[in-house]
Amino acid sequence: MKMNDYQTEKITGILSTIKEKSPFYGKKFEKIDLSKVRTQEDFEKLPFTDKEDLREAYPLGLKAVPEKDIVRIHSSSGTTGVPVIIPYTKRDVEDWGTMFERCYRMAGLNSEDVVHVTPGYGLWTAGIGFQYGAEKLGAMVIPMGPGNTDKQIMMMTDLHSTALCATSSYALLLSEEIKKRGIRDKISLRKGIIGSERWGDKMRERIANDLGVELYDIYGLTEIYGPGIGISCSYENGIHMWDDYLYFEIIDPKTGKVLPDGQIGELVITTLLKEGAPLIRYRTHDLTRIITGDCPCGSRYPRIDIITGRTDDMVKVKGTNIFPAQFDSVLSAMKDVESEYQIMIDHLEGKDIVTVFFETKLPEDKRTTLEKEAAKRLKDAVGITVVPKAVGIGDLPRSEKKTNRIFDNRY
Ligand code: ZN
Repeated sequence: MKMNDYQTEKITGILSTIKEKSPFYGKKFEKIDLSKVRTQEDFEKLPFTDKEDLREAYPLGLKAVPEKDIVRIHSSSGTTGVPVIIPYTKRDVEDWGTMFERCYRMAGLNSEDVVHVTPGYGLWTAGIGFQYGAEKLGAMVIPMGPGNTDKQIMMMTDLHSTALCATSSYALLLSEEIKKRGIRDKISLRKGIIGSERWGDKMRERIANDLGVELYDIYGLTEIYGPGIGISCSYENGIHMWDDYLYFEIIDPKTGKVLPDGQIGELVITTLLKEGAPLIRYRTHDLTRIITGDCPCGSRYPRIDIITGRTDDMVKVKGTNIFPAQFDSVLSAMKDVESEYQIMIDHLEGKDIVTVFFETKLPEDKRTTLEKEAAKRLKDAVGITVVPKAVGIGDLPRSEKKTNRIFDNRY
């Protein structure tokens, strides 16, 4: 995506003072002359910022303003135990609210709505972000937080919640419960704002039907404000991103090179206005792609695809990056192919061999055509030649962790 003039101006502005303001970037960019960074091409040579770097700045090493100007902190945890603390100024909190309000408007909400917030409150950014954006919109907020299904449903029916904010799994749980109790006619929900993660079309359909709502994917991460930096529109063809607050790049996670629009890679974000903890080229580890062209909704904000996975899921075969979501979308679109599949990568006689096992109800003597069809579709969509192997239902091992689809036996 091309860096526009406004973004270039903001970025060069940030770079001109960031070394003095932020001890973190003072150290990181110590040996780089930032005054020479004037164009997109220059910018693309700057080092990335990763979550590990942020941990080293614990507790407040990321702040780029005097401590008296910090009004709030949020924190994202990690597996290693050292949290990342993100400081916010008054303006950062306002900007986040403005972006979030914009998300609600994109989803068709207004001041008449009753917004039922089920994401958690506390150190992390979820609940309070959903709440403040809705208050800015002038809607009425029910700050539930997660859990206690009985109370959720009581509030939802008695206060006539019209919009549900939730993760996809919690939305599914609530929709199943509402269906089970047969109280759909007591529910006034019309919209669902769902935290963007990978969730299948089938799950989406079920939630939408059972709750009788239109669903929107909202994107964000604690390091960059929180949820609300982008949302899908009613055309459901990607997530519009607020590029007047943030600059987006898609990179090859292995080489760090910026990829052409349309190719799937890792989303990298630079903040344009953040005061408390500005971030330059922050690696999200989320896989997506830039969607080119105009959206029929008429919004001028650029789009990325729904997040298709994490960079950790990805492997490189024959010079091509592959990840489960690509196989998922090809196979799930095929009639006679069931939901279970496995990808085996082996190195035989100097060559990488990719074997794709998938389950089918078809009898053994009728599987050849299906295998050929799968191989052809995968070649078109993923760009590699695979050995297709159709197997019977239950032939593939079931695992708790659905994500473990690729088995790399090469090393
Ligand atoms: Zn749109």
